[in-house]
Amino acid sequence: MAAKKITVVISQSQGKNPAMRQLEEELAARCLMEPGVDVSIVPNLYDMQADHTGLLFLRSVNGPLVVLGWLYPRGIRWILDRQGVKGREGVTLLVADDDDEEEEVAPEEHPDAVGAADVPPRNLYCIDLRVSKKADAFLEEIRRIAAENSQQTVDLMSWIGGNPEPAQLERYLSGGPAGESALPAIPINGNGNGNGAAPHETENGELPVIDEPVKRRWYPVIDYSRCTNCMECIDFCLFGVYGVDNVDRILVESQDNCKKGCPACSRVCPENAIIFPQHKSPAIAGADGEVAGLKIDLSKLFGGDGKTGIELAVAERDNELVNDGREAVGMAVGIPKRQSEKSDKPRDDLDDLLDGLDDLDG
Ligand code: SF4
Ligand code: SF4
Repeated sequence: MAAKKITVVISQSQGKNPAMRQLEEELAARCLMEPGVDVSIVPNLYDMQADHTGLLFLRSVNGPLVVLGWLYPRGIRWILDRQGVKGREGVTLLVADDDDEEEEVAPEEHPDAVGAADVPPRNLYCIDLRVSKKADAFLEEIRRIAAENSQQTVDLMSWIGGNPEPAQLERYLSGGPAGESALPAIPINGNGNGNGAAPHETENGELPVIDEPVKRRWYPVIDYSRCTNCMECIDFCLFGVYGVDNVDRILVESQDNCKKGCPACSRVCPENAIIFPQHKSPAIAGADGEVAGLKIDLSKLFGGDGKTGIELAVAERDNELVNDGREAVGMAVGIPKRQSEKSDKPRDDLDDLLDGLDDLDG
């Protein structure tokens, strides 16, 4: 059986920083030479509207997919999820250039989270282009992922050709428990150029770029691996951004109603499930586990223990209300009781830590 291909998609930076463009193009050019890899360049993922050609293309890819962008992997994954580009979270082993320790950060458990819906049996790998300045580092990881998925295909075929137990076969046919499977990924169609809008080649005939223009956008992205569907965000936001889907699950419904630069609801979410991928603070932008070299328990950063998060959120929301010619509402609307009660607590060490992080951001 012929080896399946993986699709690599590079999401461009928002600006035209020459070093970033160079890395994007060098990596794409190197991928073009790789057997078993289809590569495309699309505009910044976060900025593409739902009907953008780049997203139509991404939705047409059925096989294993690697998406690289200038965003934290959580941001990439959940932007894609909102746009209907889904997959089981693929593990990447790429280590940042300046990370000498290579210390593993244990994934956080979120047992009450609603989880991603309708996840197909293929792997989706999300990689932050900021972790290295060298195309080689990304290429090496792409090769590893390609080999991993190619190997999985062979293993699955030999398993099917072998003698699976009835229970194993049933588990395979039913797709296994939601979000996981004891069985390997099944690359259905490794060539993503079959159904959707295929990227066209640039003037120099070398790089497959989808260059339909985009405008910068600003909206929240929900991480459903953390979200418990508590609805606190929909109560807090007074600008009609949130809604629910047909099974009453929270949804960022009217993305472009959100107020540019404002991250207020991310501070209110008790699960830290709301990401603003372009915010300057790593904790709001979707960093996981570590900020400025400090291991951080994100569950304590916003909306849980301190007054800082809630008070900031209320001030940010009031500011946007006044800018819209409306009345400020302060704590009177959409603040969960338990959080407003906690806001009366005195400052603690966490507040000092937050102040320190803000200074680092600045
Ligand atoms: S506040 Fe957070 S956990 Fe609650 S529904 Fe909104 S995103 Fe989900
Ligand atoms: S940042 Fe403000 S406007 Fe945007 S979704 Fe959150 S609360 Fe609503």
